[in-house]
Amino acid sequence: MRIARLETFCNEFVGFVRVTTDSGAQGWGQVSTYNADITCTIFHRQIAPHALGTDALDFADTLDLIYERELKYPGSYLRRAMTGLDTALWDMRGKLEGKPVATLLGGSPGPVRAYASSMRRDITPEDEAERFCRLRDDKGFTAFKWRVGAEAGRDHDEWPGRTEAVVPTVSRALGDGIEKLVDGNSCYSPARAIEVGKLLQDNGIGHFEEPCPYWEYDQTAAVRAALLLDVAGGEQDCEYSSWQLMLDRGAVDIVQPDVMYMGGMHRTLQVCQMAARAGLPVTPHAANLSLVTMCTMHLLRAIPNAGKYLEFSIEGPEYYPWQEGLFLGDPYRIEGGHAIVTDAPGWGVEICPTWLDSATYQVSER
Ligand SMILES: [Mg+2]
Repeated sequence: MRIARLETFCNEFVGFVRVTTDSGAQGWGQVSTYNADITCTIFHRQIAPHALGTDALDFADTLDLIYERELKYPGSYLRRAMTGLDTALWDMRGKLEGKPVATLLGGSPGPVRAYASSMRRDITPEDEAERFCRLRDDKGFTAFKWRVGAEAGRDHDEWPGRTEAVVPTVSRALGDGIEKLVDGNSCYSPARAIEVGKLLQDNGIGHFEEPCPYWEYDQTAAVRAALLLDVAGGEQDCEYSSWQLMLDRGAVDIVQPDVMYMGGMHRTLQVCQMAARAGLPVTPHAANLSLVTMCTMHLLRAIPNAGKYLEFSIEGPEYYPWQEGLFLGDPYRIEGGHAIVTDAPGWGVEICPTWLDSATYQVSER
């Protein structure tokens, strides 16, 4: 069974991929979000020509081959585009076999504990605490992550004093029995990260994500060595060599690959195995409710070193207007703090036809 046609449907934020084989089998995937229009151009220019005509079921080597053919273009965009191919082929295989991807990966459908993940820094400590408590009471979330510092902030805060206020305010409001996580998004020098880390420890926070510029593995390792809480990271890293460096330096307690930044499931599974060999759990990055969170749910139902929970964005249309109306039904409903991988084949989602009608269309075929 060979890949005969690759189609993309995109806007600036989201790009879906449909693969069709020479036998007529089809599957749906997605390139990584943001600048998805650029990523889809790369998909048709630098991914599709190498993929057309190759084996649609046994494709791990095709992904390697694409990288070798495009060896002058290392980096994120090629991986983001490659994800569209990988995720569409996993969906197609699931539909052929009548199984969810989680089952193809050796796992099973079922619930996945989710943590409620805030994406906002422009929110006051009081407002963040208020919406978290509402989600705890209404949806049953038992874990929450919020933001400290400023993104790549060179030790600056979003506004002076916000971090010192938001940490105790939110922690106290949530109360005992709730797991508490924060994200620095590459804000801090090691010295400042250690100071903030002690404030976090004093307030019951157990997970400090991306404390230092993420590419500075030694800085992150120094912070990890100085603190008792878990240091987490890796969401931007998309090459095995950078993951190996991160693990060799002992930079993190928890690894956080993003399925869609990595280049898809095949490559993410490799990182999960690298983490398993280092004795570390995997709590992937999944920052919006496009297909990335569904892929991550299937992954967490399958790998032996799955972390404690799924990252689940709590932002609605005012923050992510582009994620409205992508899918039919409600694949991301939360019940008792858990998301559900159903037994529907493939990713188990159906993309909304009206969304597809409004998208920019491109096709590559043999
Ligand atoms: Mg993060």
